[in-house]
Amino acid sequence: MEADAGSGYPLTMTFASIAALKHSPTIAKQWITKITAAQYDGDDKPHHEKAGVTIGMAMTEKQGGSDVRANTTFAEPISKAGNGEAYRIVGHKWFCSAPMSDGFLVLAQTESGFSCFLMPRWTPDGDKNYFQIQRLKNKLGNKSNASSEIQFRGAFAWLIGDEGRGVRTIIDMVSLTRFDCMVSSSALMRSALSHALNFTSQREAFGKKLIEQPLMRNVLADLALESEAALALSMRVAHALDNQNDESEKQFTRIVTAIGKYWICKRAPHFIYEAMESIVGIGYVEDNFLPRLYREAPVNAIWEGSGNVQCLDFLKVMLKEPEVIESLLKELKKQKGRYGKYDQFIDQMLQLLAAAENIEFRLRIIVDHLAKAITAATLLKYGEAQVAEAYCEEKLFQNGESIGTFSSDKWTDYIIQRAKF
Ligand SMILES: Cc1cc2nc3c(=O)[nH]c(=O)nc-3n(C[C@H](O)[C@H](O)[C@H](O)COP(=O)(O)OP(=O)(O)OC[C@H]3O[C@@H](n4cnc5c(N)ncnc54)[C@H](O)[C@@H]3O)c2cc1C
Repeated sequence: MEADAGSGYPLTMTFASIAALKHSPTIAKQWITKITAAQYDGDDKPHHEKAGVTIGMAMTEKQGGSDVRANTTFAEPISKAGNGEAYRIVGHKWFCSAPMSDGFLVLAQTESGFSCFLMPRWTPDGDKNYFQIQRLKNKLGNKSNASSEIQFRGAFAWLIGDEGRGVRTIIDMVSLTRFDCMVSSSALMRSALSHALNFTSQREAFGKKLIEQPLMRNVLADLALESEAALALSMRVAHALDNQNDESEKQFTRIVTAIGKYWICKRAPHFIYEAMESIVGIGYVEDNFLPRLYREAPVNAIWEGSGNVQCLDFLKVMLKEPEVIESLLKELKKQKGRYGKYDQFIDQMLQLLAAAENIEFRLRIIVDHLAKAITAATLLKYGEAQVAEAYCEEKLFQNGESIGTFSSDKWTDYIIQRAKF
C-alpha cells in the first residue's frame, strides 16, 4: 500500500476502465482478459499481441476540466454510427497521464452529443494510431507517472456505450478511481507517520527520546488516529464496492466515495507537513523521503474531481436522490446511543443538513461534518473501542484545526503503540 504512488495512476485507470468498457460487450470481451492479466507487457505493439495491457484516460481539455461538457474534441463514424463501431477523433486533450498506455478512454462530441470512446495505441490495420504527444507536463510531484498533452489527428477509436451517453458510460468508473484516491492518500499519510514514529523513537531532545515528550506524544497520537481513521473510511468504502448487489451498499458507494475522497485527500498534505515537522531539519531535505510524499500529496484532491466538485456531487445526490442520503443517515443513526459526543455530533449534523438556505455556499461545512460522522460510525461499528472513543472525543468537536490538540492523554499510549506495530 505504501509503494510509490505514481505507479498507482496507470493501475487505477486500467482496472477502473473495465466498468466503462462493459457498456460495449464485444470490445469488453477482447480487452478485459488483457486488462486483468497479472503480467505487465511494456512492448510497443498492438494490444492483441500483448500479454497484458494498460489503459489511460483523456477527458480534460484546456477550457473544460471539471465541466467536461465544454469539450470540443469531435468524433465522427468512419462508416456506421453506433455502440462498438469505429470513429475518427479530431481535437486536443490538455491532460493525458500514462501516455504509454495501450488504449485510452476518450470523451468527445458526436452529432448526438458527448460520447465515450476507446482509442487503441495501434489501429486494427497495424498502423500507429493518429495521435501525437505534444509535450510532457512538468509537475510539482507525481513524477513517476508521466502526464502529457495530446493531439488527435483523425485518431481511430471505438464508441463505448451509446452516442450522447458519454457521461453515463464513464460514471461507472468514477467510484473506483475516487476510491483509489482515498486509498492512495491514506497510504501517503501512513507512510509519513511511519517516518515520524521511526525518527522520534530514536532522536533525543532535552534529555528524552522525542516520542516520550508529552507535547510530541500529542502530535504523534493525533497523526496516528487520523491515519487509522482515513484507512478505516477507505476500507468501509471498499466493503461497499465489494457488495454492490446490496442496494444500501450501492447507495453508500454513490455518496461516500465523493465525501471520502474530498475529506481524506484534502487532509493528506497538511498531515504530511506535520509529520515532516516532527522530523524537522532532515525531513525538509531532499535526501529524506518526506519531500517526495509532500509533493505527491495534493494531486489526489486535484484529479478525479477536485474538492468543490466532490461537494457539488454530494449536493446533486441530495437534491436528486434523497433516498441515498436517507440510507446513509440510517446507517449513521444506528451507532447512536453508544457515545455521547457522537450523538451530539449527529444531531448537529442533521440540523446543518436540514437548513436549506444558501446550501451551495455552505457545502464544505456540511461535507466536513458528514465525513467525520461516517468515519466515527465506521470506527464505532468495526474499529477498536479505544480508537473509536478517541475519535469521537477528540476529532468530532476538535479544538482548532492544528494537529496535536488532544485535550486528554487517555488514549495516547494505546494509539501510538498500535501505530508502531
Ligand atoms: C497530475 C495530473 C494528472 C492528470 N491526469 C489526467 C488524465 O490522465 N486524464 C484527464 O482527463 N485529466 C487528467 N488530469 C486533469 C484533472 O483531472 C483536471 O485538472 C481536473 O479535472 C480539473 O480540471 P481543470 O484543471 O480544468 O480545473 P477547473 O475545472 O477549471 O476547476 C478549477 C477549480 O474550480 C473548481 N470548480 C469547478 N466548478 C465549480 C463550481 N461549479 N463551483 C465551485 N467550484 C468549482 C474546481 O473544484 C477547481 O478547484 C490530471 C491532472 C493532474 C494534476
